[in-house]
Parts: sequence; structure tokens; C-alpha cells
Amino acid sequence: MTKNILILPGDGIGQEVTSAMREVLHYLIDEQGIDLNISERDVGGSSYDQFGTPLTEETLGIAKNSDAILFGAVGGPQWDDLDWDHRPEQALLALRKSLGLFANLRPAFLFNELASASPLKNNIIENLDILIVRELTGGIYFGEPRGIVENESPKYGFNTMIYNEDEIRRIAKVAFEAAMNRNKKLCSVEKANVLEVSKFWRSIVTEMSSEYPEVELSHQLADNTAMQLVLNPNQYDVIVSSNLFGDMLSDIAATLSGSIGMLPSASLNSSSQGMYEPCHGSAPDIAGQGIANPIAMIASLAMAFEYSLDRIDLARRIESAIKTFISNGFRTKDITTSEEFIKTHEVAPIIVSLLKDGHE
Ligand code: NAD
Repeated sequence: MTKNILILPGDGIGQEVTSAMREVLHYLIDEQGIDLNISERDVGGSSYDQFGTPLTEETLGIAKNSDAILFGAVGGPQWDDLDWDHRPEQALLALRKSLGLFANLRPAFLFNELASASPLKNNIIENLDILIVRELTGGIYFGEPRGIVENESPKYGFNTMIYNEDEIRRIAKVAFEAAMNRNKKLCSVEKANVLEVSKFWRSIVTEMSSEYPEVELSHQLADNTAMQLVLNPNQYDVIVSSNLFGDMLSDIAATLSGSIGMLPSASLNSSSQGMYEPCHGSAPDIAGQGIANPIAMIASLAMAFEYSLDRIDLARRIESAIKTFISNGFRTKDITTSEEFIKTHEVAPIIVSLLKDGHE
């Protein structure tokens, strides 16, 4: 069946890194004769400038009918003063919400050749390869009731951390299944020592583990995980956590691997529809200079092949080509201290030649 892809380059370096990803995608389409229907639209500030909204109804409609959305990045100082509803970042939130993208997958890995770019010592960080699965549409960020009460003394603000069993089951299922495709270890992270919602989370995840006897399940308190990620990150394979804790932990994990320009992400719903994007933003400080690292975007394409396009074989080939690219010594500006580096537009042709020669 023909799969539908929507490309949303967005703003700043979003445009540049998406060009590189598009070259790799088109090479694979030609090589494999894959039946893909590709659309492309503006999003974020570039959509606002043309249509007065960061996400048009038309684009949202195409997104809803797409198997995979390849999203660059949005935002920039020229749009910072717009009212909330018109800000570029609203496009991201609207897409996540409309498509019900509840599972955020953020791999954090290190190419050993780049270990010196990590803030941690080489012996701690070497061979880092973690997947963080963060719940994205529930928990304290969305729980009701919430608010600020100003007409009482003292005034107060409050939020609600709430998860029902269906929400926990569906995110845990994604995490258990990811662990099955990796090293079969899953660590569920919460604060069961102080929060009822966490105690409940732990009981549901534990119950589900009987469906995945091959996966070694452990539980950890979130504050301990924050510490362990820095002390001994290689103890983890897959980590699953709620929206709030996952937010913090995935940022810590991302920092470990050196450059944000290397890390992809996926946000999925229960129909395997997904939005794939680099972890970085639109980087206005380097936009237009041709020095952005497009690897995170190209690795996001690999994730799209794995999770939404049923082509895990192509995902693995892209990932290996990226590995060979690094081990052959190619460096963009963000991952080298040398004055010699390759520019954004030079990356995809090298990745394509590695794919072509079967060096991946
Ligand atoms: P950022 O990720 O854009 O940049 C942070 C730093 O990392 C910058 O110094 C930048 O030059 C560098 N960097 C980022 N990606 C890089 C790459 N691929 N190659 C080389 N260097 C790279 O974060 P920021 O500066 O906080 O935000 C800039 C804009 O992006 C803001 O408008 C923000 O709202 C937006 N933003 C968008 C997203 C998204 O679209 N998903 C995510 C985060 C931030």
C-alpha cells in the first residue's frame, strides 16, 4: 500500500537540514522503487508569514492522512513577539495534539569517536546507546484541574498529575516493544515513594511485564535516574517515564552525547503514525550559514522507516551509513574543534555514496 509522507521543513536551519534529509530519501526511493506519496508544506514562522497562521487547516489535514511527518524545526526571533496562538511553536503542539502523538522516543547515543565532545569522561560515556520513551500527551502538563487562585490568601497555583490505566498501558507497550527490538532491558521511572500516581504507574507496568517475559524490567525513582544517567548511563537500554520526568531525563541524556545536532526523535500514536524531528530547534544563530549538522534530521528519517514505514532494513542502513560517516572522520562544525569541517550540503552526498557502495 502506498505510504504518505509529509515534509515540513519549517524555519531557520529546519530548511537546511531537511534539504539534506530529502536527498537521502530520494536516493532510497529510486534505489528501492518504494511507493511513497510525498507532500511538502510550510510550517511555523514561514507559514505564518504567508498565511497568517503557523499551521494551516490544509496542512493539518494532510498531516492527519500521513503515515510519517518529517519535521525540521520552527521558531526565530522575528516571531517571538507574536501572540501565543500565532507563535511558530504552536504548530508543533497542534500537530501532537491533533494526531494524538502520545509516545515520544528519544534515542541518546554516542559515537565513540566523538566522546571528547561529551561533558562526561570517556570511560563512563563510551558505547552509550539509550532509548528514552516519554509519555507526551498526559500527566501533569495536561491534568485537570489546574490553575492559579488569586482571590484567596495565601494565593496559590496548582496542577494535577493524573494517569489512567489505558494511558500507562499504551506507553508501556511502546517501551516493552522497543526493548524487545533492542537489548531487552526496560527501566520504568517514577516517584512511587511519594506519589500515588507513580505507585499506580508502577503496578500497571509490573502487571504488563508478564506479557513480555523476555524483557528484564526494573523500576527506579526519577531523582536516582537523573543521577545514574550521569554516573553510569550504560546500565540502561530503554527507559520509560511520564511526561514530566521524561522531559527532564531526555534532556539530560541528550546532553551526554555531545552535540544536539546528532539526535533524532519520534512521536507516535497507536496507529504507528509518527512525527519525526531532530531534537534541536531552528538555531537562528547559525541559520543561513550552511554549517548546521543535518545528521539528526537524517537519523529522524531512519526512525520514520523503522516505526511508520515498515522498513526497518532501511532504518538500519541509514544508521550504519551515519556510523561509517563518523568513523571515516567526516565532521560538521559542531562536532569538531578543527578549522576544517564539511558544510551542511556536503553531508547527504557522502551518506548517499556510502549507501550506494554498501559501506554502511
Ligand atoms: P536550538 O536547538 O535551535 O539551538 C541551540 C544551540 O545549538 C545553538 O547554538 C545552535 O546553533 C546549536 N544547534 C542546534 N542545532 C544544531 C545543528 N543541527 N547543527 C549545529 N548546531 C546546532 O535551540 P534555541 O536556540 O533554544 O532555540 C532557537 C529557536 O528554535 C527558538 O525559536 C525555539 O523556540 C525554537 N525551537 C524549536 C524546536 C522545534 O521546532 N522542535 C525545538 C527547540 C527550540
